[in-house]
Amino acid sequence: MPAKVGRPEGPTATIYIECPTSWCDSGTHVAEPTAHPEDISHISGAEANEVSVSSFLKSKHVAAHMLTSTIQCDPGSHDPRLEAAHIVIEDDVDYAHLTPDMGEAFADDLVAFASRLRQQARTARQHNQTVAGDSGTDMDEALRRVRGGAA
Ligand SMILES: [Zn+2]
Repeated sequence: MPAKVGRPEGPTATIYIECPTSWCDSGTHVAEPTAHPEDISHISGAEANEVSVSSFLKSKHVAAHMLTSTIQCDPGSHDPRLEAAHIVIEDDVDYAHLTPDMGEAFADDLVAFASRLRQQARTARQHNQTVAGDSGTDMDEALRRVRGGAA
C-alpha cells in the first residue's frame, strides 16, 4: 500500500510498502509523511475507539475530556515493546503505551469505573428527587403558615 516519505515541509515521495497487519488503517501511511521508510509504524483507525465526556457547562460540540485507544506497532523500533503490537491510549495531554496484558487490566478498571459511575448517577438522581420532595413539603408548610397568619 502507498506510504508518503519525506519531511512535512519538504518534498515527499510515495513509496509502496507491505503492511504486516490486518488492522492497520492504511490511510495513516499517506496522511502523515514519515522521514524514513524504516520509521513507518502501523496504527489502527484512530476514530474507531474513543469516548468523550461533555459538560452541561460547556458547548454541546466541545468535549471536556476525550480518550482514544488504538493498536500500534513500530517494526523499526529498537524497543521490542514498541516493535510488538501494543495499545496506545491518548487523551488531550499525553500518550500511554500498554502491552496487551496492561490493556486488558485497564479495560477491567474501566468496567469498574463505569459501574461506580452508574451508582453515582443513581445516588445523585435520588438526592435530587429527595430534595425536590422536601422543598415541596417546606413549601406546603410555608403556605400553611402564611394562610394561618392571614386567617
Ligand atoms: Zn500499516
